[in-house]
Amino acid sequence: MKLLVIGSGGREHAIAKKLLDSPEVTTVYAAPGNAGMKRDGIDTVSIAISQHDELIHFAKSNAITYTFVGPDDALAAGIVDAFEHAGLTVFGPTQAAAELEWSKDYAKYIMNKYDIPTADHKTFSDFDAAVSYIESKGAPIVIKADGLALGKGVVVAETVSDAIDFTRDVLTNDKFGKSRVIVEDFLVGEEFSLFAFVKGDRFYMMPTAQDHKRAYDNDKGPNTGGMGAYSPVPHIAQSVVDTAIEMIIRPVVSGMVKEDRSYTGILYVGLIITAAGPKVIEFNARFGDPEAQVILPRLTSDFAVNMLDLLSDKVPSFSWLTSGVTLGVVVAAKGYPGDYEKGVALPEKTTGEITTYYAGVAENDASTLVTNGGRVYLLETTADTVASAQDIIYQTLAVQDTTGLFYRTDIGDKAHV
Ligand code: AMP
Repeated sequence: MKLLVIGSGGREHAIAKKLLDSPEVTTVYAAPGNAGMKRDGIDTVSIAISQHDELIHFAKSNAITYTFVGPDDALAAGIVDAFEHAGLTVFGPTQAAAELEWSKDYAKYIMNKYDIPTADHKTFSDFDAAVSYIESKGAPIVIKADGLALGKGVVVAETVSDAIDFTRDVLTNDKFGKSRVIVEDFLVGEEFSLFAFVKGDRFYMMPTAQDHKRAYDNDKGPNTGGMGAYSPVPHIAQSVVDTAIEMIIRPVVSGMVKEDRSYTGILYVGLIITAAGPKVIEFNARFGDPEAQVILPRLTSDFAVNMLDLLSDKVPSFSWLTSGVTLGVVVAAKGYPGDYEKGVALPEKTTGEITTYYAGVAENDASTLVTNGGRVYLLETTADTVASAQDIIYQTLAVQDTTGLFYRTDIGDKAHV
């Protein structure tokens, strides 16, 4: 088989690398991919994710068996619809099914209709009406701009005036290009993520994972795309996961079929375990980044064949590591998520028990990898315990030349085992 992965981040590196492990696969292309992926034998193709016609032409002329779509913006732009229209096999939700992610209002509509637990909420496009509601609720309170906003469209407001300021930025000052806000109750509890492979009303769960969204240690600093993750989450009881599957995953998957928006792809649910049980904070229509880089290494079955079986309505036999912990630490350019320098040379790639997944990198004239984005690479390893995985990664980072780069030193500390 020859396969195509759409996207260019660490997530897509992990997907492409795992697909390439299959003895059934001769070539994995990544469009546009990144220069670091080539170090693992992945072929990069310089076509942007927005160039649907060119991507379709590439898939047809290279006899691609199926295409795996990584990023949310490609899904929201309807890349799956375009591929399907062209008669190609593709793994990812259609634009209508991906609305679960690209419209928080639609996600709330589905959750209300199918009795899926989430925070109480109301949607507003009128500023004054939003202010009255916020004042009646009090703080802390959560305000979300409706639509994809790269993790920047949400504010957990400690005061009513912070909540009103953010609402004004969205509705009056048009700072996000969104015309609606969702005002929702603040939920208290532990956060974790659930991931499933979905095709119609069938779904297959993956191990749990926990991301670290803030830029600096002890969850300080601005929100980022994610600074590190581990899987599974040892302190989340299987009974909580089972409850979440029955109360959330099953009804949303069957609900989408009833809505005539049958879902194919990865469903990623962000949850908070409240005193009243697990509640949804968000749906995403794709793998998390960096969660993909710690979940996929735990897959012991043939990923490429699993995906083919799922897409052709056969029963895929996924199997996963049942012990140990997989941990990944992101190394980012100093300044991220604000302004940062590009073109800084990367340290030599480590070998042995650590895998490097590349994201914001490019190759200079001397074929050396240099920084080209905010999140640059991630080191991943699997070990018996969180502590031993941390030792392996942090000892390696301590001897790497990370000039111009930074990373959190507490990834995994919250895993109380
Ligand atoms: P979202 O983009 O909806 O995932 O929100 C981003 C982050 O805001 C989440 O990862 C949570 O940490 C936090 N958050 C979102 N909604 C709530 C809520 N209702 N209560 C508490 N925290 C929330």
